[in-house]
Amino acid sequence: MLTRATTGIAAAAILATACLLSLIGIPTSVAAQNPPTSESPEPKTAATADADSQAAPIAPVLLGHSVQGRPIRGIELGAGPRWLAVIGGIHQGREANSTVLANLLLDHFRENLAEIPEGVGLAIIPDLNPDGAIAGTRANANGVDLNRNWDAGWQPDAYGPSGFVPGAGGTRPFSEPETRALARYLLDRPFVAAIFLHSRGGFVVPGPGAGSVELASTITRAAQYTYLRGWTAYPLSGQASRYLAQRGIHVAIVELTTHTHPDYPQNLQGLRAALAWTQHLPPPTGPRGVADAEFSDVCGTLPGPYRAGLTSPLCPW
Ligand SMILES: [Zn+2]
Repeated sequence: MLTRATTGIAAAAILATACLLSLIGIPTSVAAQNPPTSESPEPKTAATADADSQAAPIAPVLLGHSVQGRPIRGIELGAGPRWLAVIGGIHQGREANSTVLANLLLDHFRENLAEIPEGVGLAIIPDLNPDGAIAGTRANANGVDLNRNWDAGWQPDAYGPSGFVPGAGGTRPFSEPETRALARYLLDRPFVAAIFLHSRGGFVVPGPGAGSVELASTITRAAQYTYLRGWTAYPLSGQASRYLAQRGIHVAIVELTTHTHPDYPQNLQGLRAALAWTQHLPPPTGPRGVADAEFSDVCGTLPGPYRAGLTSPLCPW
């Protein structure tokens, strides 16, 4: 029963996501079905988006590719210099409603750019795990949990809602192209805060540090969720929140109330509050670029972030 229901939910979520992607101008056939080809229209690189951000404050960016070569895309709205990221789909499968929510939020702010406060930029990455979205799995195509693969308290084996999962952390920190793509993007660009969408729980959890506590508290109040001081359900390792907070990016984790509904009105209020909170942060000082050596792997030292048109499923970079 659970499997059948879960599959149905995932399929519905993917369909909904496909509809939304078509609404925001991302070709569904590229975003949800097929790896990109050399003929596929690629979005601007982040550098290009920077150059004309004042003229066109809506800029698609390509963060990288999944294990199976699917593009990981984001949309940047506004001009910054303080950037807030919203990430859906770090877990797919039962948590696919996080991607549905991210796309709904994207639709809203794309049509209501004036709601983004002066001095703030909003980047929404609806689906960090496109292979998992297609397969209906929490993990990526390598069976790795993308929230256990970061270089912070990393372990090869990790816990999740189904218990202890050998190999869920990956073969090493940042062994997965999805986590490398997001880490590089968030650190190379002037991000000051990030919100990760999960399900289910109906609560908000802060990453480490006072800034993360403030951000999570702000969202909790506006979205009328429960505030959870820390995760105690099972041991965690290699989480994105811990890695990013250690590098000065404040993080809140939002657990939607169910596995089925996107909790859109609540989270619209939550994101509005988070944007207002972000406006009062000092702008980031200097680059926090990731050392290429930290991300070297069998594909060699990564040549640079946000590269378009590299589609090999073996070495996506
Ligand atoms: Zn999750």
